[in-house]
Amino acid sequence: MEASSDTIPRKLLDWYDAHARDLPWRARPGTEAPDPYRVWLSEVMLQQTTVAAVRGYYAEFTRRWPTVEELAAAADEEVMAAWAGLGYYARARNLLACAREVAARGGEFPGTEEGLRALPGLGAYTAAAVAAIAFGRRAVVVDANVERVVARLFALDEPLPGGRAAIREKADAITPATRGGDFAQAMMDLGATVCTSRSPRCLLCPLAARCAARALGEPGRFPVKAPKKARPARRGRAFWIECDERVWLVRRPGRGMLGGMRALPDDGWHSRADGSGEGPLDGPWGHAGKVAHVFTHFALELQLAVYLGDRCDSLGAEEGEWWPLDRLEEAGLPTLFAKAARLALADTGELA
Ligand code: SF4
Repeated sequence: MEASSDTIPRKLLDWYDAHARDLPWRARPGTEAPDPYRVWLSEVMLQQTTVAAVRGYYAEFTRRWPTVEELAAAADEEVMAAWAGLGYYARARNLLACAREVAARGGEFPGTEEGLRALPGLGAYTAAAVAAIAFGRRAVVVDANVERVVARLFALDEPLPGGRAAIREKADAITPATRGGDFAQAMMDLGATVCTSRSPRCLLCPLAARCAARALGEPGRFPVKAPKKARPARRGRAFWIECDERVWLVRRPGRGMLGGMRALPDDGWHSRADGSGEGPLDGPWGHAGKVAHVFTHFALELQLAVYLGDRCDSLGAEEGEWWPLDRLEEAGLPTLFAKAARLALADTGELA
């Protein structure tokens, strides 16, 4: 069954006018143009992250840095700490680089997909999304929700990731010349609320009469995914060194995994190798337990060692800092180390 490109956008936009989700970064259909800074910020935060997880971070970022110039002027550590817990920390570094570039150009985001693409850290998806949503341009915006809707609408059965080119081609074919932002957001909303991954609600779908997967009676089969490769399992250790109500924290190297974030010292584990097992002190160490954490490319089992000695002075100030335990929440520890810290505090009896 072939879907007609002139009726799909019309049906979808009519549905969107009545059912658009109310999101803090979004302008209602037909109202004033949205602020490009807020659209860009939300799109960067939403990559690989759910709307529910982003809401609080978005509110906090826009409260502290209401304009791109204010974000550009913020200290790196402050922004990295505010991002803590949202994951994929390279996004925060790129966010700052991009904010500074836009501020240096007078605070205006470029209004075209091409111009946006030239900014640091703006990939094809984000450039298309901002061009469409903030500037109303016709752009082909394909996130995971849109990918699912299009694969079902046209019953595209080439497995992902190889099948993405065909999905994009079909998405292009149904993207209208006008209302680019509303169309992109309508597709996202349909995927998020009706054409959901596990149980598509075809009876409520404005595109049901045009949907090939529904006609086949098996919408859940699309998009077809290639079998997943097993995630490698890595092991490492992290070290909780406590002295006078303070804990020793280090700053991770600027590039690479969790780069630029405060963290507990560890034994050098990374995505391709286990850690050495060695800590910043000889010990004696107690064992507080293990933390399991899944990154995109590997799973980590982190053993937490707790320092039981009294030679805290041997740690060099240039390698880290003593952080007060009663202000640990302000350290901006990424989720892995926040979990480890909770474990240590429970082990040492400091967490009720
Ligand atoms: S009819 Fe069902 S499968 Fe097809 S687009 Fe709508 S919700 Fe998705």
